[in-house]
Amino acid sequence: MKKDKPIFYTIRFAVISFTSAVIIFVLGFVFTSYMKKANSSTSLPVFNENDKIRYVIDAGHGGEDAGAIADDGTLEKDLNLQIARLLRVVLELNGNEAILTRDTDTLLYDYYDDLKDYTGQKKVYDLKNRLKIASEKENSIYVGIHMNKFSMSKYSGLQVYYSPNNDLSYDIANSVKSNVRKYLQPENKREIKRADSSIYILNHAEMPSVLIECGFLSNERELELLKSQDYQRSLAITLFSSIIGYGN
Ligand SMILES: [Zn+2]
Repeated sequence: MKKDKPIFYTIRFAVISFTSAVIIFVLGFVFTSYMKKANSSTSLPVFNENDKIRYVIDAGHGGEDAGAIADDGTLEKDLNLQIARLLRVVLELNGNEAILTRDTDTLLYDYYDDLKDYTGQKKVYDLKNRLKIASEKENSIYVGIHMNKFSMSKYSGLQVYYSPNNDLSYDIANSVKSNVRKYLQPENKREIKRADSSIYILNHAEMPSVLIECGFLSNERELELLKSQDYQRSLAITLFSSIIGYGN
């Protein structure tokens, strides 16, 4: 198995050893050049040649909504935000525009101040507003960051969902899947999934949109990885390398 993993360990070692922004920039630059070629889509272009892509990174849950809770008390909302922030850093260091829907521990139901009383409507408005934030940005690509949890602890592995509303969502999801297998989880056999109506944002999004379930909080080994900063950085770089190169 060792033979299959040298690239991942090289990336991981580099990130651990050089916490400076410089190394992330260099890796990102190499990835950018490579992925611009590798990601060329066969579907109809969503973006024009000179469009400046805006990456909307949506850390799921927040505030009173913790999302999934691991047995050791780790909250999904916290991991989501940590990874979203790292992804923003890598995107920005490589000259891309990245927007976080939330950069604090909060739900977004009152983001637009639509109602006086949100009782019983917080979750609905939270999702609506996340979608609205992404939709308001011209030429945006939406990336939702979440964690999985299941009743049986044996399940692990990153899972990608894509919006059914345009072909580019499918292409980006495939790119994430391929790079995760290549650089992060060689054993991951999960196929990408088309979002159904249970995933509100992907189901309604018009821009290219994917949702990443980064791993299972119910799997002890994966939980430890997801909590570690070096794994989070490797994950952020892998996601970055997968979502760039679709615009100009
Ligand atoms: Zn979630």
